[in-house]
Amino acid sequence: MRELRANISGIIKSSVIDGPGNRMVIFFQACNLNCMYCHNSHTIGLCNYCEICATACPTQSLAIDKEKKQIFHNDVTCTHCDTCLKVCPENSSPFYKSMSVNDLISEILEIKDFISGITVSGGEVMLQAKFLEQLFISIRNHTELKALSILIDSNGNVDQNRWETVLDWVDGFMIDIKAYSPDIHKQITGFSNEKILKSIHYLNLKGKLKELRLVFVPTYNDSDEEIKKITDLMKRLSPEVKKVLIKMRKHGIREKYNFLNEPSLDEMKAVLNRFETAGLNLLII
Ligand code: SF4
Ligand code: SF4
Repeated sequence: MRELRANISGIIKSSVIDGPGNRMVIFFQACNLNCMYCHNSHTIGLCNYCEICATACPTQSLAIDKEKKQIFHNDVTCTHCDTCLKVCPENSSPFYKSMSVNDLISEILEIKDFISGITVSGGEVMLQAKFLEQLFISIRNHTELKALSILIDSNGNVDQNRWETVLDWVDGFMIDIKAYSPDIHKQITGFSNEKILKSIHYLNLKGKLKELRLVFVPTYNDSDEEIKKITDLMKRLSPEVKKVLIKMRKHGIREKYNFLNEPSLDEMKAVLNRFETAGLNLLII
């Protein structure tokens, strides 16, 4: 079988907020939404080797070979100022790496005794469903790794065939809902939510939807109509699905979206109460 590779923007070796237990989290580069409140906007795009970041770097820590499509980063001189991320016109980064399934298996083996599972996240990880299939088969066939649980953290914006590719190998999915109305969803993310709504129902039907999370953005997705439609959707899901209300946080978002209002604790509680009145209890995180 041909060895597939994926662009990996980062790996956290220990996390207790990305699913149950202590988990390794692997972040994939590139996303098919462009959320206003994205606080990792440098994971949205792929690099086109334009050299803008190398020119802007105040410590000359980047060198780019356009022909070979390679980026050299001097970690000794880099001051981690993030200028390269801020100037990139592609919402990308000079730091993500191309990795094979075997590369990731080696990373997981190093810490297998300290984790209960792995979570793959993004960017939008389901854009790399074929790579995930190979990764998960390798984990399930590995005597030292097969007991690890596997969770996928996704924006849900893909067709059913991608879910089918990985469904048999994973324990569950955590999906965000940004808005119910396609128009409001487009305002928040730049894209409609038709596929996302279908994905939520499909994964629920298959018993694999573990968590559905609403990111609360004041004045965007808190109208009476939005709350009613999201409540109706969540009520139709299995009671086993954890329903979560997430506070939109402005930390790390792009400057052009500074006009967004981060909800106060009182506003979070008020929205929570409106869901409770409609007969739905959400967790706040
Ligand atoms: S990371 Fe961005 S700015 Fe740097 S070379 Fe790639 S596309 Fe250009
Ligand atoms: S983080 Fe700052 S110092 Fe490091 S490579 Fe990027 S621009 Fe240069």
